[in-house]
Amino acid sequence: MTAPKSRGTKSKRDKRRLHIVLKKPNLVKCQKCGKLIQSHVVCSFCGYYKGRKIIDVLKKKDRKKREEEEKKKKDKDKGKDKKKVENKKKEIVELKKTAKK
Ligand SMILES: [Zn+2]
Repeated sequence: MTAPKSRGTKSKRDKRRLHIVLKKPNLVKCQKCGKLIQSHVVCSFCGYYKGRKIIDVLKKKDRKKREEEEKKKKDKDKGKDKKKVENKKKEIVELKKTAKK
């Protein structure tokens, strides 16, 4: 394998990397809602592209809300189960106390 004869200079390295830059995305105003969106892409705010409705954004939002509510319900149910177990334990302890007397 061939190897470079000598190490390159910082100047050469930096000049080579001069063009390695992140470009700004080409943003365009949405025809429907006027928000800045990527060109040639369906608007993620209203779901329209070229005046036609492509995505039902509200449905997706509703689904997210529904999923959150279901999660909350599950957590509540878990809490109820724990309370039930604790109540049963208390009852058992009280029964033992009464039995000793
Ligand atoms: Zn839009």
